[in-house]
Amino acid sequence: MPHKKVIVIGSGLGGLSAAISLRQEGYEVIIHEKNNKIGGKLNVLKAEGYTFDLGPSILTLPHIFERLFEKSGKKMSDYIPIRPLRPHWRNFFEDGKVVDLDPDPEIQAAEARKVGEDPGNVERFLKYSADLYDLTNEGYFEQGLDTAADFREFYGLGKFLKFDLFRSMHGGVKRFLKTRHMQDIFDYFIKYVGSSAYHSPAFMNCMPTIQYRYDLWYVDGGLYNIAIGLQKLMDELGVKVALNSEVSEIHKQGDTVTGIIANGELHRADIIVSNMEVIPAYQRLLSEDDDFMKSLEKFEPACSGLVIELGLDRKYEQLAHHNFFYSDHQKEHFHTVFKKHELPPDPTIYLVAASRTDPSVAPEGCDCLKILPHIPYIDDDNPLTREDYGALKERVLDKLERMGLTDLRKHIVFEHFWTPLDIREQYHSNKGSIYGVVSDRFKNLAFKAPKQSAKYPNLFFVGGSVNPGGGMPMVVLCGQNVAKKVVAWDGVCS
Ligand SMILES: Cc1cc2nc3c(=O)[nH]c(=O)nc-3n(C[C@H](O)[C@H](O)[C@H](O)COP(=O)(O)OP(=O)(O)OC[C@H]3O[C@@H](n4cnc5c(N)ncnc54)[C@H](O)[C@@H]3O)c2cc1C
Repeated sequence: MPHKKVIVIGSGLGGLSAAISLRQEGYEVIIHEKNNKIGGKLNVLKAEGYTFDLGPSILTLPHIFERLFEKSGKKMSDYIPIRPLRPHWRNFFEDGKVVDLDPDPEIQAAEARKVGEDPGNVERFLKYSADLYDLTNEGYFEQGLDTAADFREFYGLGKFLKFDLFRSMHGGVKRFLKTRHMQDIFDYFIKYVGSSAYHSPAFMNCMPTIQYRYDLWYVDGGLYNIAIGLQKLMDELGVKVALNSEVSEIHKQGDTVTGIIANGELHRADIIVSNMEVIPAYQRLLSEDDDFMKSLEKFEPACSGLVIELGLDRKYEQLAHHNFFYSDHQKEHFHTVFKKHELPPDPTIYLVAASRTDPSVAPEGCDCLKILPHIPYIDDDNPLTREDYGALKERVLDKLERMGLTDLRKHIVFEHFWTPLDIREQYHSNKGSIYGVVSDRFKNLAFKAPKQSAKYPNLFFVGGSVNPGGGMPMVVLCGQNVAKKVVAWDGVCS
């Protein structure tokens, strides 16, 4: 068993997964977290009898989380209670049409017919998605590939071409799906990585398979119970956590990192894993020069979000657990957010009503809603104000009232909202991004930064800003793959 000391900076899910996986390999591991609780963006707000997931609310690919427990001979179900949801998503359109996504082929076919889509088109699209998933999973996800060179070596030219490289995600969707409604819905799977269906590569169409094959899950009591379950596992394994411990500097000697400064105190380490995103970490903790920082520009942030929580004094029975209210002009919505970097006049809105499934999260007879339109990351040269974001919030409420949540404003008894400025302050994410690095076919071909620093070989990164990118299961997988990289590198160096 190695007794080397690893410091993990940050307790987001990627940091927790790396810490657990490295401890399981015998390393002494301590996490330094600036906030007063673990989880990072996996966060919770409890107020006046309502429980809101402030961050993620959709759990997918739970088998990736299960590996953290299996490796120590334990069962995830003893730590984190999960259950599948039906329907997966309910989709509302301005023309009054409502369509559900459901993994049952017969139900899905009936839903497709409601908007005039041939169910065969959906089946063929899902087969295309499954092929892309299997291809992406075998190398990019499971082998933890980091660069185009890794891709070439693992896949070879023949398989590389199967990634449908010459189309955008929307191009892939429109090959199979003919109605605007179904195109808008399947384009919006890009929500899972905070990017644009019109600007990301076609292989992002692997995402529907994540839901259709592996289901969509809820964690009883709210998603923060994932963090609580992981804390219990870490206690049993002996992973230490220092809360309220903000890292202000990474110490270096030549090309080796030697420790961190947290709350003014030096802590030495043999290996450092940063769950602080790559760009803020190089800029603020390592003070790298402008030339080096320029080389990272292709890792542009994914979108941010306006995160609105509403406690209501009634239920809106037409809502499912997960709901989407579509922009009437989704192409423009994507263009406005991702290219013009402006607040959208008519955003597509994601709305979670966890009270539909879980009575413990709201008083009896009431709904608790989390509402999340995707919006641009912060432009520090031309920052928006809280009033600008407030005006968008009013447009969102107008749209929801227009699309069936009649008199919504009159039924709000508790309200809370976070802008990108709050998100950046909370998590130190790059420009308030909520999913790490954007997936853009021309900018980075959906590659994020590599897990091992090119400058300091004993410095590693984990989380949404490195491959394979944002989303809970992906950052947990990233933590497992970072641990493998550390072990392999350490084995060669020792
Ligand atoms: C509103 C919202 C909705 C989302 N919805 C979903 C969803 O439904 N499903 C899904 O799968 N994903 C969703 N995501 C994305 C998902 O939450 C993230 O991709 C994932 O949780 C990020 O994990 P991470 O490892 O990158 O770390 P982060 O969560 O970014 O955590 C980083 C941690 O590092 C700490 N830190 C940073 N700098 C320092 C420092 N200098 N010193 C000490 N500590 C530091 C931060 O405080 C933070 O705790 C959502 C995110 C948000 C915000």
